[in-house]
Amino acid sequence: MKIKTIPELCTSCNMCAYICSIKKLGVINYRKAAIRIFNKLPYPEIEILSNCDLCKSEEEPWCDKYCFPGALYMEGKE
Ligand code: SF4
Ligand code: SF4
Repeated sequence: MKIKTIPELCTSCNMCAYICSIKKLGVINYRKAAIRIFNKLPYPEIEILSNCDLCKSEEEPWCDKYCFPGALYMEGKE
């Protein structure tokens, strides 16, 4: 299982990175997140880092849950 991305839907809002830093470390700092967004054309580049644990204590990964444009999803999940 892993997080899959749809860069075409990403708005570079960085909500996923902020929410990840809160989940993992209890801080609001997108630089500490296990997901990174790079502003590129024509679409942002979304990188999931090796320290991503898929929010294993949660039913749904937080970055997926709070990505309102729907640019993230869990592979194999409807
Ligand atoms: S929350 Fe979704 S739309 Fe916003 S930067 Fe992350 S992947 Fe992109
Ligand atoms: S699944 Fe959890 S740990 Fe991994 S990038 Fe998303 S919020 Fe961060």
